[in-house]
Amino acid sequence: MKKTKLLLHACCAPCASAVLENLAGEYALTLLYFNPNIQPAGEYQKRLGEFQKLKNKFTFELLAPDYAPQPWLNELKDWAAEPEGGARCARCFVFRLDYAAALARDYAGFATTLSISPHKNPAQIEQAGQTAARNYGAVFLDFNFQKLYPRSLELSRELGLYRQKYCGCLYARNN
Ligand code: SF4
Repeated sequence: MKKTKLLLHACCAPCASAVLENLAGEYALTLLYFNPNIQPAGEYQKRLGEFQKLKNKFTFELLAPDYAPQPWLNELKDWAAEPEGGARCARCFVFRLDYAAALARDYAGFATTLSISPHKNPAQIEQAGQTAARNYGAVFLDFNFQKLYPRSLELSRELGLYRQKYCGCLYARNN
């Protein structure tokens, strides 16, 4: 049976692990590591490198645009003082999912691993995904992956994945 092509925005390898396992039976997956929110550059590269470990267990393509944090910093600078889970994160989701939606024309739709995290607000993610889909005439598949979080912990142990201690931006790391 021919699988449906899905573009999956992936925030990091640990979150992507259980989502890959969950979706791989139905979808031909292209992972998009577009996360200019991650700082500093070394942390961004370290998280990117972990996707190679996922290739030992799962089949997928990986798109990873060059690291370019400045547009994200410009866009989000006025929300630096927001707590995690607030308006800054909502804009951060829009920023990243807009990029995914713009690339999604050749796919049946796009989705994101972001909702697996118990620290994220699924309603913010859904709103960002739907807005991005409208902006680019794409289809957003609003999966809520939160129930897969325990499995992502198991897979992280099994594959020896690095699990970061903060979401991504320095605002979150330093607060
Ligand atoms: S805490 Fe995470 S989701 Fe929120 S703005 Fe920072 S990087 Fe983005």
